[in-house]
Amino acid sequence: MCIRLRNFDVVDMGTFNAPAHAFEQDREWSHEDVFEHLEKVKVRAAPIWWLWAARCKTCGQCWLVGQEERQNDLFCMRRLDPEETQAIEREDRWPADFDNYERLLQLGLDSGRSVRFVDPEDSSLGTTIVDLARARPRISVSELATLLNLDRALATQLSRRASEENGVEIMFDSETTG
Ligand SMILES: [Zn+2]
Repeated sequence: MCIRLRNFDVVDMGTFNAPAHAFEQDREWSHEDVFEHLEKVKVRAAPIWWLWAARCKTCGQCWLVGQEERQNDLFCMRRLDPEETQAIEREDRWPADFDNYERLLQLGLDSGRSVRFVDPEDSSLGTTIVDLARARPRISVSELATLLNLDRALATQLSRRASEENGVEIMFDSETTG
């Protein structure tokens, strides 16, 4: 199965329900199709908890996997060459492609994912905003709104709380103009 993935691909968590034909044509994958043949070989240490490496049991190909389970529920995948695989396995040296959680969110966005939480107040959004602002201080509310598929008012409200309760630096609209 992994031979059919692009070198750089996005795989949704869960099962893909479309007919087989559409599945082939649009190359939309579900992780049950793909991960059936993958085994985890190494997990990146905290704080980059979302990153791991996998090997295909069928063909031996190794993959860098960024597991984005807070927002869009997907796996960002990149083929690893043998040197990169060795560096990960032997020296715990990892390619930086998915080091940044913001990048995983951006990749989900670029591939058309747009999750909305039913109850944003009681979701992982607050934690994600704090983490994004820690990784990139002075990230703007409008950037957060786009990355997390929020309307501006809600993004502002959640960002205010994140900045008050966790002391992270977020640029609010009034601060970005002029
Ligand atoms: Zn394979």
